[in-house]
Amino acid sequence: MNNPKVLIIYTGGTIGMINDSETGALKPFDFEHLYQSVPELKQFDYQLEAYSMGDPIDSSDMNPTNWAEIAKTVFDNYVNYDGFVILHGSDTMAYTASALSFMLQGLKKPVILTGSQLPIGQIRTDGKENIITAIEIAGLKDYRGEAIVQEVALYFEYSLYRGNRAQKISAENFEAFSSSNYPNLAEAGVHIDFNENALFRTQKNDLEINTNFLTDIGLIKLFPGMPINTISSFFNPSETKGIVIETFGAGNSFSNVKFENLIRNYIENGGIVLNITQCVTGEVAHGKYQTSEQFAKMGVISGGDMTTEAAITKMMYVLGSNLSLEEKKNKLMTNICGERSPARIRS
Ligand code: ASP
Repeated sequence: MNNPKVLIIYTGGTIGMINDSETGALKPFDFEHLYQSVPELKQFDYQLEAYSMGDPIDSSDMNPTNWAEIAKTVFDNYVNYDGFVILHGSDTMAYTASALSFMLQGLKKPVILTGSQLPIGQIRTDGKENIITAIEIAGLKDYRGEAIVQEVALYFEYSLYRGNRAQKISAENFEAFSSSNYPNLAEAGVHIDFNENALFRTQKNDLEINTNFLTDIGLIKLFPGMPINTISSFFNPSETKGIVIETFGAGNSFSNVKFENLIRNYIENGGIVLNITQCVTGEVAHGKYQTSEQFAKMGVISGGDMTTEAAITKMMYVLGSNLSLEEKKNKLMTNICGERSPARIRS
């Protein structure tokens, strides 16, 4: 049989919920009954297999151990399937998608995350379209027989996004995700229209799995008037090995000697500081304003146009690797799997 073979991995989230007929409360549906809940799947000329990862969880409970388990499931089954669809809660889906992009490097097959805002058991659910189209994309090949999508992607409400560029932007709308700094990979209408130039292609020959993520990191979002004392414990190298700071505009911070000293000492003692912007579009450009100049001098790394989700998971990945400190810093500045754009040349 040449029909595409797709493995559906169920982790939990709203997509897998149905209303309990007695209490009316939402409960996870028995994944064995996927076909009952989405009978349309029977019409696919794909071979579909489903795997449930233990008890379904709300994606707020996802952590690097769960990410590693998902990555391992894909890795162990990689040669046996043409593509993978991961059913996942939407709340932290962008974190999982980013993490998987670093855990599974060298992909030549699609790994598509999807979920829904309304449970699959509800009449107005967005889950059916999401799951059906995600499966279709996971099995699509080009005229050479190669997978069209060869990366971790996220499908939601008619759009396919690069996994490590997507962010959840709405707690209510069906259009819950966006990819502000990178074009969408595809739009699903009458046809599934791929943005060929935006699709990632790996330079690696084989699939690698890296699940050794180090979670001793911090995330600090600056705000005007921030009391520096409240964040000083973050900059303790025996507590954290890396800190992501979300700064203003093109990577700027308030001028505060105490803050600068914290960062300087931390970096001198082997800590890594990565600067990303709070803005939805655009990138960090150290030195563009005086208020970011000191960062470059202190050895803070520019995170370019990375999302918070990508920056956090990349930091965990890089810190968990066997690289030297300098190599780790270089890795953070390098584009690994489409998570950051090349620095722009501007006049
Ligand atoms: N709280 C749910 C989750 O992320 C929301 C959803 O699935 O959309 O698991």
